Amino acid sequence: LSCITARINLGSNIPFTTLSVSRSDSSDFPSSLKTLSIDGHFSFDDLHHAARDFGNRYQYLPSAILRPKSVSDIATTIKHIWQMGPASELTVAARGHGHSLQGQAQAHRGLVINMESLRGPEMYVHAGKLPYVDVSGGELWINILHESLKYGLAPKSWTDYLHLTTGGTLSNAGISGQAFRHGPQISNVYQLEVVTGKGEVVNCSEKQNADLFYSVLGGLGQFGIITRARISLEPASKMVKWIRVLYSDFSLFAKDQEHLISIGNAFDYIEGLVIINKTGLLNNWRSSFNPQDPLQASQFNSEGRTLFCLEMAKNFNPDETDIMNQEVESLLSQLSYISSTLFLSEVSYTEFLDRVHASEIKLRAKGLWEVPHPWLNLLIPKSKIHAFAEEVFGNILKGTSNGPILIYPLNKSKLDNRTSVVVPDEEIFYLVAFLSSAVPSSMATDGLEHILTQNKRILDFCETAHLGMKQYLPHYTTQKEWRVHFGSRWEAFIQKKSAYDPLAILAPGQRIFQKAI
Ligand code: FAD
Repeated sequence: LSCITARINLGSNIPFTTLSVSRSDSSDFPSSLKTLSIDGHFSFDDLHHAARDFGNRYQYLPSAILRPKSVSDIATTIKHIWQMGPASELTVAARGHGHSLQGQAQAHRGLVINMESLRGPEMYVHAGKLPYVDVSGGELWINILHESLKYGLAPKSWTDYLHLTTGGTLSNAGISGQAFRHGPQISNVYQLEVVTGKGEVVNCSEKQNADLFYSVLGGLGQFGIITRARISLEPASKMVKWIRVLYSDFSLFAKDQEHLISIGNAFDYIEGLVIINKTGLLNNWRSSFNPQDPLQASQFNSEGRTLFCLEMAKNFNPDETDIMNQEVESLLSQLSYISSTLFLSEVSYTEFLDRVHASEIKLRAKGLWEVPHPWLNLLIPKSKIHAFAEEVFGNILKGTSNGPILIYPLNKSKLDNRTSVVVPDEEIFYLVAFLSSAVPSSMATDGLEHILTQNKRILDFCETAHLGMKQYLPHYTTQKEWRVHFGSRWEAFIQKKSAYDPLAILAPGQRIFQKAI
């Protein structure tokens, strides 16, 4: 343990500032690795791609990319690096779809493993009493959806965006509007196959190598590379009733969200949005939603106001439409939203789940997808959410936002506390996601520096007001901050690192541990 403790964040010699670009070249890459007998190959000509991510702020060049064809390619490579011992600086980052925000899937002068190359063996859907699908760690959730739907089945818990890999989201948690019912994605996994930092291939589950299984779930890639996952499935519906309503009073909004998640299976999906100073909001919604009361909705003025949108969805099959509509009507009658703001829509199950991809296509066409994304994801205990809302929406962000702000409650009891993910110490806590996009080189309120300053004000407020906030998709640069993040779980986290990746080879981009040099 002392050996690994000594290596924790001894102070990286890489300056972790925004818009960083590091230098590297393939001469950093040990020649002995090139002689390994593997099914896939190492590549050296597209290193820049592996030095980018969705956040578009950090760029660390690796010395090589491994495009594995088999699990044994990954195991052989890591075992070789492990056997090179602490004298070698080489680290290894699994790269899923590269949708991290601050270089978490990058490896400065190290080796990036392109997990999407690991496609085989084929996805396998088991349609028994407890249905599941076996997938590669590099499989995209959108492909899992399409494959399982062929059997009338689908995973239970999702992320809002499906062009992410299983290994990437299971290393974090995988949270969306279904998590209040089913828990996040890490609560819906039966088994994993993992390659540890020593190059061992280990199958693990609740019953077999349970410590590794739970460590890896939410483990920020620190304990092993997920090469296969067995994901729990349920019968899929064909259609989704998608509903949005507005509130001007945060207390009423939060009360209704908490009421709905307490009913359990009232809706299949519950999220929320903070809407700050939008012009013609309800008119914009009309392209995809129908207002219940078109006249009143057309007169509703959202300009200059801070509003809270409760978003709900109910899955159904066409032959159940009447009963579903009755249930929805009864549930809506229990809520206190502004009555003229009820908007309804019916879409296919796939269209609903893949909704963010539709926005991606539009943003890409305008060149607005590959901009810096200074996102901030926070988990706030229910007892502090009102203080948080008052200061953040009423003061820090008064009048402006630079992208969607999501806010919705989750239940801690839907999470297994043996997993590595860190959440606040209360049964109900809120995910608050500031999904900002920055306009490159703007010095105004939509520029990167301004948004980062706002993010810092929010983080500082959480700290000084002792909100008990935890970051989701956490990003820290010092050992002290990581210690505070993990709190009483820090020692156990170090112990696991020492057991499964003692040389700190894996996931260097998280900047928790530094490989001994
Ligand atoms: P990468 O960014 O490639 O990797 C993430 C981390 O996991 C890295 O440290 C990497 O080394 C490690 N890793 C990758 N693959 C493996 C593996 N097989 N085994 C072990 N470690 C691995 N998150 C949510 O929870 N809910 C959402 O609704 C949501 N929506 C999003 C929408 C968009 C548009 C974007 C860009 C992100 C969203 N995220 C959401 C965040 C997303 O879950 C994380 O950024 C996730 O890490 C991205 O997955 P990826 O496959 O791109 O992983």
